[in-house]
Amino acid sequence: MIRAYKFLMRPTARQAAALGEMLRDHCSLYNGALEERRDAYRHVSRTTVRYGLQSGQLKDIRAFDPERQGRWSFSSQQQALSRFPRRKAKDRTRNHQRAVEKVAALHGKVRRQRLDHAHKTALALVREHDFIAHEDLKIRNMTKAPGPKPDPEKPSSFLPNGAAAKAGLNRSIADAGWGVFLAILHAKAESAGREVMAVDPRNTSRRCPECGHTAKENRPTQEKFHCVSCGHQAHADTVGALNVLRAGLVRRNAPSAERETPHFKGGEESRVRTTSSDSGHGRRRATLSVAG
Ligand SMILES: [Zn+2]
Repeated sequence: MIRAYKFLMRPTARQAAALGEMLRDHCSLYNGALEERRDAYRHVSRTTVRYGLQSGQLKDIRAFDPERQGRWSFSSQQQALSRFPRRKAKDRTRNHQRAVEKVAALHGKVRRQRLDHAHKTALALVREHDFIAHEDLKIRNMTKAPGPKPDPEKPSSFLPNGAAAKAGLNRSIADAGWGVFLAILHAKAESAGREVMAVDPRNTSRRCPECGHTAKENRPTQEKFHCVSCGHQAHADTVGALNVLRAGLVRRNAPSAERETPHFKGGEESRVRTTSSDSGHGRRRATLSVAG
């Protein structure tokens, strides 16, 4: 049985103000969460963000914004995040049902096309090259995670780290596709007797391939590489690919003790350090480094 209770409140002026603040903060929490869901769904990957993921971020949001979000009850905020309307499958109208099926078919098509592309690309790489090096995905995830960023313009706006949170989301979406590709590549390489090597991606976009000078100033923009020491210029992706290839070759020629953990895993020492972050936030290096 569901019972409803009604209470008559006569709040004092201070209480009314506090209630207003509470309502406002819960609204901005809800709106921020809604925006995140929309952005994720508009992304090419059509990612669905669910309650579990968003309530998992609550702790960080509260810790980051103790003066606003941090002062309210955790469970009332969880409730605000769980208020997104949902329509159960059995309540769908015929039109809605038809639309759902159409969308599902489109998703399936995109998924198959993506998989097909991954297979073809991997096959081409394995056919033409004996040795392939790529960024280690796990280390990449750890080194490039953006921290919460305050917004100096709007100190009281919801989720000051919203942009960073979204960058993180987009990156994990991109990494998911990349991970599928790497799995296919590793499988094809193994059956063809080719070598694939994962390398620590740190500094690969900052090190000058000509003189070895490593600095983030070497990368003035996303595309450009311009060494501040020797003046060497190239496309940033070319530089990154070259560095990944060289690191891979070094690793291949290293004594076997140094590469006990091949392929997807990185060394333990790199797992501990999570300090620096490469400048290439959220953008996947499209070129694989390949040695003929
Ligand atoms: Zn240089």
